[in-house]
Amino acid sequence: MIYNPQQYKIKDEAMKPFIDTDEIWDTLRNIHPTKEQVRAIINKALNKHRLSMLETAVLVNTTDPELIEEIKQGARTLKEKVYGHRIVLFAPLYIGNLCTNNCAYCGYKASNKEVERITLDKDEIVRQVKALEDAGQKRLILVYGEHKKYGPEFIAESVRTVYKVKSGNGEIRRVNINAAPLDIDGFKTVKESEIGTYQIFQETYHPEIYKKVHLSGKKRDYDWRLTALDRAMEAGIDDVGIGALFGLYDWRFEVLALIRHVNHFEAVYNVGPHTISFPRIQHASELDIDKSYLVSDEDFTKLVAILRLAVPYTGLILTARESPEIRDEIMQFGVSQIDGGTNIEMKAYAEKEDAHNQDINKEQFKINDDRSLNEIMDDLIEHKFIPSFCTACYRLGRTGEHFMEFSVPGFIKRYCTPNAILTLVEYLEDYAPQETKEKGYQLIEEKMAEIEDDKYVEKVRERIEKIKSGVRDLYF
Ligand code: SF4
Ligand code: SF4
Repeated sequence: MIYNPQQYKIKDEAMKPFIDTDEIWDTLRNIHPTKEQVRAIINKALNKHRLSMLETAVLVNTTDPELIEEIKQGARTLKEKVYGHRIVLFAPLYIGNLCTNNCAYCGYKASNKEVERITLDKDEIVRQVKALEDAGQKRLILVYGEHKKYGPEFIAESVRTVYKVKSGNGEIRRVNINAAPLDIDGFKTVKESEIGTYQIFQETYHPEIYKKVHLSGKKRDYDWRLTALDRAMEAGIDDVGIGALFGLYDWRFEVLALIRHVNHFEAVYNVGPHTISFPRIQHASELDIDKSYLVSDEDFTKLVAILRLAVPYTGLILTARESPEIRDEIMQFGVSQIDGGTNIEMKAYAEKEDAHNQDINKEQFKINDDRSLNEIMDDLIEHKFIPSFCTACYRLGRTGEHFMEFSVPGFIKRYCTPNAILTLVEYLEDYAPQETKEKGYQLIEEKMAEIEDDKYVEKVRERIEKIKSGVRDLYF
């Protein structure tokens, strides 16, 4: 893709809050990485220091295959060092697909008359959540279209409904939100329902491309969306997730813009976002975008590795838009969370027999990993990852600043790994078939050997026995 600065020049100077299109492009144009620079930057990241936008640009502009390999290896090492061999699992639940926007890349755009528009009522939410709990899910992200029906009260009420559902030993312990931007009062209302993360993706950080792909509706307002999570912060939600939809514009630009967004939060609120997501465009009903920006597997792997190095303490989310093969490949470069057992068709979790029949007119986009939660658990265990449903920090108030504060050397070993083991034991006892159960306990034994402190091993073993005897929800 050839960059033509005139083509994408910002017309309105007022549209320059903290994302400066020219600054990002000038950075990308003027950086010509040397081996020494790339290696020094990888080393800096391996010492768990955040990278600046300039340093990130050096990695982005690296084209030498040998150095790209070193970047990937660096990300792999850092992932091990910071997160351990552990993957947090969640599932998305679509609450309503009414939408007044026309996003060129989305199957739920208002102009798509083929879509069946559904909003889950209370009983239907309960039915879906029971099905999710019966599969073993503990963490959900609720997804809403942008529509006046889905105001703050509606969102808060649906969150409260989800938390109340208990099926057998099942319960949802963390509800995250992916919904339209709100004003500060709206965010306060949603916060009161005790959400986890509020996630809003800018989709593309490039203002002009943004206008091109957001054809009508409230979402067309770039600034309102870009500043949404600032309003969330002002409202006291200090746990936010950002993201870009890769494939709308040049991936190199989007990576630097994401880093700018992180810098902005750190500078203003002294805390970065909890997570970064990087969905990649896949087929959607009536997909109507410039396909020249679609990101190849090779560039996608590289950009995930770069993000890992650039923001060592930020969670990276890889969704079921990607195929199982790509997910297996990319997970090792620094992903910390994936969705599992995903079905984005409205009402589909409770209708198991239809779960694998994807109808693109009932979905926002196509997913490429439609394995059941257990298939994914089994696969993670095979690959020696501990699948985790841990929600301990959030429930102990260790979110936002605290999350950062606690993400220090030793924390993962003392808290995250044991908590991952405990949630895995719950899963193995309550939901896993015999074969997964055996493999799971074998993995737990291997991981216990990695916890160096004997006293701690003893404490974890005590809790495992308690879970086996029927106690639930134990954490450090
Ligand atoms: Fe509506 Fe979201 Fe789809 Fe845009 S991406 S059309 S806002 S559901
Ligand atoms: Fe996340 Fe905290 Fe659990 Fe670690 S202990 S996995 S940081 S919630």
